[in-house]
Amino acid sequence: MNSDLTRATAAELAEALASRSVSSVEVTQAHLDRIAAVDGQVHAYLHLDPDGALATARTVDQRRVAGEQLPALAGVPVAVKDVMATRGLPTTCGSRTLQGWVPPYDATVVTRLRAEGMPILGKTNMDEFAMGSSTEHSAYGPTRNPWDLERIPGGSGGGSSAAVASFQAPLAIGTDTGGSIRQPAAVTGSVGTKPTYGGVSRYGLVALASSLDQAGPCARTVLDTALLHGVIAGHDPMDSTSIDAPVPPVVAAARAGRVHGLRVGVVRELGGAGYQPGVRARFDEAVQLLVDGGAEVAEVSCPSFEYALAAYYLILPSEASSNLAKFDAMRYGLRVGPQGVADPSAEQVMAASREAGFGPEVKRRIILGTYALSSGYYDAYYGSAQKVRTLIAQDFQRAFEQVDVLLSPTAPTTAFRFGDKLADPMAMYLNDIATIPANLAGVPGISLPSGLADEDGLPAGIQVLAPAMRDDRLYSVGAALERALAQRWGGLLLDRAPELDGTTEKGA
Ligand code: GLN
Repeated sequence: MNSDLTRATAAELAEALASRSVSSVEVTQAHLDRIAAVDGQVHAYLHLDPDGALATARTVDQRRVAGEQLPALAGVPVAVKDVMATRGLPTTCGSRTLQGWVPPYDATVVTRLRAEGMPILGKTNMDEFAMGSSTEHSAYGPTRNPWDLERIPGGSGGGSSAAVASFQAPLAIGTDTGGSIRQPAAVTGSVGTKPTYGGVSRYGLVALASSLDQAGPCARTVLDTALLHGVIAGHDPMDSTSIDAPVPPVVAAARAGRVHGLRVGVVRELGGAGYQPGVRARFDEAVQLLVDGGAEVAEVSCPSFEYALAAYYLILPSEASSNLAKFDAMRYGLRVGPQGVADPSAEQVMAASREAGFGPEVKRRIILGTYALSSGYYDAYYGSAQKVRTLIAQDFQRAFEQVDVLLSPTAPTTAFRFGDKLADPMAMYLNDIATIPANLAGVPGISLPSGLADEDGLPAGIQVLAPAMRDDRLYSVGAALERALAQRWGGLLLDRAPELDGTTEKGA
């Protein structure tokens, strides 16, 4: 294991902790020190909890010394996206509206992290209410990409991916409604999974679009991602859409990493015009590695994917406009009085608070969603989008009759510069063109690094998609691919990222 504890993988840390060659207090402190040293540049975190994290670490260490048998990731620290409710720790969703809100309860995902004995380092930055692909829509300022501080880390979960990519946490929790785990993973050279819809509890996840949202793991390796997936997945009676079935064997699949004889489909509709040539080149090389490993590769067509983006940007705003109606300034959250009104009505306070509390992207989507759901337009917009959603699910179904997994580039480009797409919502939305179909159909997907893809030496991602509740396939393909790519790139891609103290040049 690397003597710098922040460079070790979660699997290595877990092993070292179990054999007591290192303590959780040491591991946790090393990450807190790293955060103190570099997060001023990256801004991956919105809130830190050093006392809470160290208290958990101390308890785990004491139990270990007492000879207790502990869960696999006990003592391994984790960061949590600020959209998950954490008891006693601020949860802002990157919004002014929730500034200062401290939930009185834990999301189920957080409860499971605590039960595992994982110290929670803090809460990570995100686009406001998880709307965006760059983290520029955070009310608290953007997160920076550790590969190039002038570029976006992806979104909405840019904070979680940047935290793992800059060695400020070995593991992090993200949420993915249309790509917010996978796209940030792709542009930061890290790994992230959107599990099967219903595979991980949504209880305590502040809802963006309830029929699309899914929490999942972020890490630097496929195995680490699987280990965290295993901790947070599984049935929860507190979430009515939670699937009551055994968790797919994700960790065993990641350890085995097999593709021989596997039928792999390359999605024709995801990867053509609009994809950066380098992104496409790294993708094609990765596919060739699977062929070399004994997989059978074929092209598969999913014709309705062409309409996925349009359907998503009707369904998501519709659900979001309804979910965000609860921020009415009456029960909790920001409350401001309208300017110059002596005795304002409840409606006036509500309007003034929502005006002050929400950023432009959130307002845009509330307006869009309210319009799409209004009587007279409902069938034309929301109704049509739901029909497209069915067609997309059918495309997946047909594809998975022919192949075991589907592949595409995760995002069409490498990380872009701040401001490049902020003024043009359509350009921003197009970042998720390849990730959105999985959310609409509820199937799982993983993104892992495919290589350095442009003249600036920035990473790109490859996406693997599997049928619902076959999340294990993501990990067997992912691990095999990661192994083959490590030979090509001489180890983990992230080891080529520049040092944040400016001493090392970025890999070419
Ligand atoms: N970028 C997409 C959006 O803005 C996805 C967001 C997400 O997955 N939370 O809606």
